[in-house]
Amino acid sequence: MKLNANAENTKTLSAILGIDESEARALLDASVAITFDRRDERAAKFAWHAQLLLSRTIRSVIADKSESNEDVAVELVIGNTVPRFSSPCIYAWGKKEMIVVANAPICAGSFDIHPVGLLLGACYAVGAVLKKALKLPYPSADTLEINLAELVGDDLAELYEPAIFDEAHLAGAGAIGNGFLYGLSQFQVQGRLHVCDDDAVSDGNLQRCLFFTQTDVDLPKADRLCLAAREHLPGVQMFPFKGRLQDFPNRKGSWLKRLIVGVDSPRARRKLQTEIPGAVFDASTTGVSEVVFHFHRQPTDHACLSCVYHESPEEHAHEKHVADAIGVSLDEVRQERISDAAAALICKRYPQLNPAIIAGTAFDTLFKQLCSSAQLKTSEGRQVLAPFAFVSVLGGVYLAIEFIRRLHGSRADLFNEWRISPWSNPVIRRRRKLGRNPDCEFCGDSVLARAAETIWSKTKS
Ligand SMILES: [Zn+2]
Repeated sequence: MKLNANAENTKTLSAILGIDESEARALLDASVAITFDRRDERAAKFAWHAQLLLSRTIRSVIADKSESNEDVAVELVIGNTVPRFSSPCIYAWGKKEMIVVANAPICAGSFDIHPVGLLLGACYAVGAVLKKALKLPYPSADTLEINLAELVGDDLAELYEPAIFDEAHLAGAGAIGNGFLYGLSQFQVQGRLHVCDDDAVSDGNLQRCLFFTQTDVDLPKADRLCLAAREHLPGVQMFPFKGRLQDFPNRKGSWLKRLIVGVDSPRARRKLQTEIPGAVFDASTTGVSEVVFHFHRQPTDHACLSCVYHESPEEHAHEKHVADAIGVSLDEVRQERISDAAAALICKRYPQLNPAIIAGTAFDTLFKQLCSSAQLKTSEGRQVLAPFAFVSVLGGVYLAIEFIRRLHGSRADLFNEWRISPWSNPVIRRRRKLGRNPDCEFCGDSVLARAAETIWSKTKS
């Protein structure tokens, strides 16, 4: 199934603005310019990140020195330099461990900030550029201040130190997994990382998976992510596993010391909890409106992954909708992957699909592909919105920051849940220490809860 990677951006934009897809396509068919102070290495790095992110969403990004006459929708002006075009601008400046993004030029200092702060700032700057270029309706402050010192508090100095982990497992090599490794590559880090994913790269993934290109399409995500990320992370040994985490061999006792979660559905997240991980680092996106971060370390009296992603009426309605639209039972959809029997059934309804190709892929993946190519045979207009690249990367970068932070100390007192808007200043007071969900299928199961206690109270993770 070959689809244009831009189809998902078009669908998302048309749903956000309530316009038809041809109008959305026209808005995305725009140019954004990036102008930066070429004497400043960090401004250049910031520009590089912004270009990488913007080029996954907008048709053309002009970042070279050429005096193009092209009609530019927005110009991103980075550091001590002046605009080259007469279009509206977004300005990005540095301060000590801080990035400032604003609609008007401001006189700040140089980019004296940790490399991960540059990347984080670039994500927010890209959000501001897209908001202006695509006329997105998100309310936001005129000035964004991304203050790394405030975000990590007393741990700031430790971000500059080498971080070492013995072993970790990444479940899911999609958008969040890509963003996590890109974020992690901004640190000096060493360790052994298993990258688990049973899926192949699809055209639709390219719009938000930073490390994947057209040549990766149809190849295993786990292999391709390890291969592409390796050169950015020389200290991390990466081992691809072309299966789900729950199919990993030798899963006994304290095998899963650190789990990084980038799978794509709440149900898949809950299933991972039953593998009884020691420490969980998780990030997810809710369309383009929110990034959710979760962390816990066993044994804990607070929320686990299953508590945070507890089955909701929305999830049930979504699964029901997928089942109806694709033409299979709800029970089939809850198996997450398309069985041979389901593949045959789906292809009766959608004869353009090939059962051998769709068998084994995730229902949500197929559903998103059908949505973005407008092939879905359903009367209802409900859709799954794929986030823009910068939103997924923002989730991955926060995940990397919190991962590194927690490698350095015991950090048992830190928050376990944080909801972050990609469109406005990060709000520290929204960080929470979430309690257990009384109906949690993991914490509420005395056998599982006791097993977690037994495995991890003896093992320092
Ligand atoms: Zn729980």
